[in-house]
Amino acid sequence: MDRNVKINDEGHLMLGGVDAVKLTEKYGTPLYVMDEDAVRGAMRAYRDSIDRFYDGNGMICYASKAFSCKEMYRIAEDEGLGADVVSGGELYTALSVGFPMERICFHGNNKSDAEIKMALYNRVGRIVVDNMEELERISRFADELDYTANVQLRVKPGIDAHTHQFIMTGQIDSKFGFALETGEAMEAVKKAIETPSVRLLGVDCHIGSQIHEVTPFVKAAEVMMDFIADIKSETGYEIEELDLGGGYGIRYTEDDDPVPYAEYMEAVSAAIHKKAADLDVGVPFILMEPGRSIVGEAGTTLYTVGAVKEIPGIRTYVSVDGGMGDNPRYILYQSKYDFLLANRAADEADTVVTVAGKCCESGDLLGENVSLPAAKAGDIMAVLSTGAYNYSMASCYNRNPIPPVVMVQDGEDRLIVKGQSYEDLIRNDL
Ligand SMILES: *Cc1c(COP(=O)(O)O)cnc(C)c1O
Repeated sequence: MDRNVKINDEGHLMLGGVDAVKLTEKYGTPLYVMDEDAVRGAMRAYRDSIDRFYDGNGMICYASKAFSCKEMYRIAEDEGLGADVVSGGELYTALSVGFPMERICFHGNNKSDAEIKMALYNRVGRIVVDNMEELERISRFADELDYTANVQLRVKPGIDAHTHQFIMTGQIDSKFGFALETGEAMEAVKKAIETPSVRLLGVDCHIGSQIHEVTPFVKAAEVMMDFIADIKSETGYEIEELDLGGGYGIRYTEDDDPVPYAEYMEAVSAAIHKKAADLDVGVPFILMEPGRSIVGEAGTTLYTVGAVKEIPGIRTYVSVDGGMGDNPRYILYQSKYDFLLANRAADEADTVVTVAGKCCESGDLLGENVSLPAAKAGDIMAVLSTGAYNYSMASCYNRNPIPPVVMVQDGEDRLIVKGQSYEDLIRNDL
């Protein structure tokens, strides 16, 4: 591990200037910790890159499915970002803190009537249309409200982003959006142009997640600009907005080498400007929807080590008091993380172990071949880069309560999401 991890004189991991061991004494374990400066810093890096390379002619929409809670919408608003939501529940959370609805982008491949009505009633800035039937419903419900809905069309640009197939969404065999190659996307555009109570603002693509190369994003931007030009020549209609989705990779372990955001933006901007000039179309307003790269590296999960089980000649299991309930990414994708002992962060990692959760599933692991100092019951285990798709994917499987989330900054900590209690677990049981 060659992370820039901060350790104090006692050998304790420091998070946002706060001793991680003290955090566990105060809040218990498991505990999600989010570093506010890291979150805000990532938001600013994206925003600044649009200012620097794209004349500020765009908006960053935080893809809130990565980590959604009231405080995140407050921070996104404060940093001047928009937010991408994919459900009535995320929209409700944003609404609950007065997030500006004109900066909301509503996604989803199977929006319910209630969700569409909720989005329209609250005048969200954009609804990203996934299919023809949805377009028809949006039109009908908008008409009932005597309102014109601003929409984008979700397009599959056919880009293979070299990533895990579960998180590859731009190719033709995907449940998301209209395919370009088959002519379906053009048909959808024509339909949207003539559909009443709907205003076609833009086209949208999202090519995958945890992508570590600039090329797929540039390719996607080029394919989408070609499409915008085709739309203009076939219909005369000028598309104003291009939404390039999210998917920018982060560092989970030393094997990951993410590209700085500014590099993506610089390359994508150059590609768009070139295409606009070559194809004689306007330079579109752009939207980018980073999720993981805003919150992923900002998060750390802290656990207490319990049972340590050495199976001679096979492996050693080090079990912690959480697992797939608070971090389902290993069981879903065999995702890799960096681990350390927060109470002995400076000790040499001289054992190789399997870190296991406490759920009744053999697959409930957090990592295999993990290098750690010899762990014993009572040690505090830290798992790094758990800010994205951990809390937001958490479940209370085995009726393990979902842990609290604490925000740290400048040596201060504050609770932003309470942990579930046992009473919470039975709250809806009748
Ligand atoms: C998931 C998703 C994102 C965010 O992806 P990250 O990999 O977290 O950046 C953005 N836009 C859309 C449409 C998505 O589905």
